Formats: sequence, C-alpha cells, structure tokens
Amino acid sequence: MLLAALCCLPLLEFGRAGLRGWSQLIVYPEAFRVRRSHVDAAGVLHEWDDDLIGEAWDHGPLILSWADVQADLDEPDAGYCVAVHEMAHKLDALDGELDGTPPLPARWQHAWARDFQRAYDAFRAQVDAGRKTAIDPYAAEAPEEFFAVVSEYHFSAPALLEEEMPAVAAHLARFYGPPPSL
Ligand SMILES: [Zn+2]
Repeated sequence: MLLAALCCLPLLEFGRAGLRGWSQLIVYPEAFRVRRSHVDAAGVLHEWDDDLIGEAWDHGPLILSWADVQADLDEPDAGYCVAVHEMAHKLDALDGELDGTPPLPARWQHAWARDFQRAYDAFRAQVDAGRKTAIDPYAAEAPEEFFAVVSEYHFSAPALLEEEMPAVAAHLARFYGPPPSL
C-alpha cells in the first residue's frame, strides 16, 4: 500500500496513462545484483555485475529495493526517492524513447527539451570540472538520469531544486503538480 502510494505520487497530474504498458512491481529486500553484458565494436563480449536499488524495465516490471525505499522514508527531505526515480523512467519511456522527455503537448515538449538541455549541460560542466554540486552528481550520467534525479528532488527537496535549477523546477511543478512542501 505504502509502495503503491509512493509510486503513484508522480502520477497525480499525469494520471493513469502513466501506468500504461506494465503492471508489475517487484520488491527485493535489499539492493540486488544484475548481470550485464555488452558486445563492443570489436566483437568482444564484456560481462559485469551491477548492484542496483531500483530498475525500470522497458514494458516490464518496476523493481525496488525495500531497504532503500525505507531509507528514503527515514530521511524524506534528503533529495532521494528511488520509487520516484524509477517511476520517472517509466513516464519518460512512454513515448518510446528514454531520453529525459516524457510525452507532452508539442509546445511544452519543445520548451522542456530546451530548458532541460541547458540545465543538464551546465550541470555536467560543473561535475566534469570536479566541482561539488548541491544536486546528486549522478544526474550528469545521461539526460534520462538527469530527469529521474531532479524528479526525486521535486518530491523530497523542492526548495533546493528551485534554487539550483528554477526552469527545471517550474516544468516539474507543472508536470507533477506543486511540490509537497510548497
Ligand atoms: Zn535511473
């Protein structure tokens, strides 16, 4: 019940359509290990293990580590919420592309893409320069991770997000509804 509520937080504005294409929520007691493999350009197979606290499969389940969900709940203002993070990936993927832009009306999507790109580039430059950032540097990994990470801040540290990235915060307030503490 608690998990369902947490996962639905990002859907308050967007609505049920955000759940399209999948129905399973899998909960592991703790962080879990997945086997990754990749064949590089030279045809060499690389395999490695990843430890994850959450994962959102394309058209598949959303997976969460219960220990980490609880850690988020213990510190609700810390800027972390793995359930929201994975739900953001689900919303992002609804238009068939995991690129940091969820499906939106065309004009809004244009403004979103422009403002998010600008904020992402500036943030990456800070991280690349080795500067300490107020927002989790994981957001600099890729545009889709940027969207998922700032979504966590929208729900758990909105004042900080507003201060650091006002344009992004405004889009999220429109997309998700006003942040909880405002
Ligand atoms: Zn992610």
